Amino acid sequence: ISSAEATQAHLDRIASVDGDLNAFLYVNADEALATARDVDERRAAGEELHPLAGVPIAVKDVVVTKGMPTTAGSKILEGWIPPYDATLVERLRAARLPILGKTNMDEFAMGSSTEHSAYGNTKNPWDLDRIPGGSGGGSAAAVAAFEAPLAIGTDTGGSIRQPGAVTGTVGVKPTYGGVSRYGLIAMASSLDQAGPVTRTVLDAALLHELIGGHDPRDSTSIAEPLPRLVEAARQGATGDLAGLRVGVVKELSGEGYQEGVSARFAESLEILRGLGAEVVEVSCPHFTYALDAYYLIMPSEASSNLAKFDGMRFGLRVEPADGPVTAERVMAATRGAGFGDEVKRRIILGTYALSAGYYDAYYGSAQKVRTLIQRDFAAAFEQVDILVSPTAPTTAFKFGEKLDDPLAMYLNDVATIPANLAGVPGMSVPNGLSDDGLPVGFQILAPAKADDRLYRVGAALE
Ligand code: GLN
Repeated sequence: ISSAEATQAHLDRIASVDGDLNAFLYVNADEALATARDVDERRAAGEELHPLAGVPIAVKDVVVTKGMPTTAGSKILEGWIPPYDATLVERLRAARLPILGKTNMDEFAMGSSTEHSAYGNTKNPWDLDRIPGGSGGGSAAAVAAFEAPLAIGTDTGGSIRQPGAVTGTVGVKPTYGGVSRYGLIAMASSLDQAGPVTRTVLDAALLHELIGGHDPRDSTSIAEPLPRLVEAARQGATGDLAGLRVGVVKELSGEGYQEGVSARFAESLEILRGLGAEVVEVSCPHFTYALDAYYLIMPSEASSNLAKFDGMRFGLRVEPADGPVTAERVMAATRGAGFGDEVKRRIILGTYALSAGYYDAYYGSAQKVRTLIQRDFAAAFEQVDILVSPTAPTTAFKFGEKLDDPLAMYLNDVATIPANLAGVPGMSVPNGLSDDGLPVGFQILAPAKADDRLYRVGAALE
């Protein structure tokens, strides 16, 4: 089928189901169709194009897109149209992927359910009363509901992998520095990574290779070629994992994990054994403190990154209801009206953790824990080639279930956060359905710069 037909079919699907799902904040129909038609003409003329040319894609709204509204799920950016593209968007355009639009997310990527979006909840296509995960619930729901075959997400503490798990899609957080952060609206700069959300492991590999690789505009970008991901996915698909050493993270299983989640996980371990892998248990003792360290480091960095939303530079500007209109009072009024509760909570937490007198006790200690977690990974990867765990402790929960209890919400990230703290890559692949009939995710973690191992194992399990 032609790209124009495929793109139109996805736009039609969006038109018919997105009223219920709310996965999209903006639909870029005309431009997407124009790109698709252009691809069809070039193909007809015999031009050699990228394998993903003409395959439509959805982009999480935290990634800036020239000429398309970009809100990061926040009222404070309502109406802002970026004058430039993120590097990864430039690469999508250069390879001629029609961009279908921008997807819904928790405000500034803070959350695990998409309930913190200023633009309404995104619903899980498997059960409209349930969350699609977060923060990238829009991208995952769009792919799961066949509104888009491919999407881009970002993962600071699990926001690609956990939505992948609860919607039955593939989600990859690349090695830190593997995909350029230029043009991502930063939440926590030392943790953020963009990556693919897809329905198959091979699709993810193709997309990862396209958006990844060195970018001089991101000083943390790795100045080396990516490992060969597509090749690894093809190799894994042959189903031969002979000699592969797999470590089950002791601290990320058992208590606190839903029964059906643990059962599917155990079945996948059997499959890995059947394919020739050697499966052993590995202890990463400091993972128990990962959540605590993350919820100090992430708000600290976010409080600093979000200081630029001041009512002067981007989007919303609110003047105080009465009294003098000074810069400081406009900033206070804009931030008061523009940020939601979860964002305010984290700015306050982060500002407190960084303040004089508390910096060493909170931020300093959290950074030390981060180092211990990095050492746990290093020690584990001396014994095994990959580490595995369930991606999330439970299947998709109901709307409102955890909204009044931020700590319960944070607990969802227990298995995904260690990878961000250490900068190592992680993938969630669909792992069947739990006893409640909802999708479960299987998480694979590899050493930094060995993203190819994720694809080999992910494709073998598929
Ligand atoms: N759920 C985590 C949080 O709320 C992760 C978010 C993310 O990865 N962007 O911070």
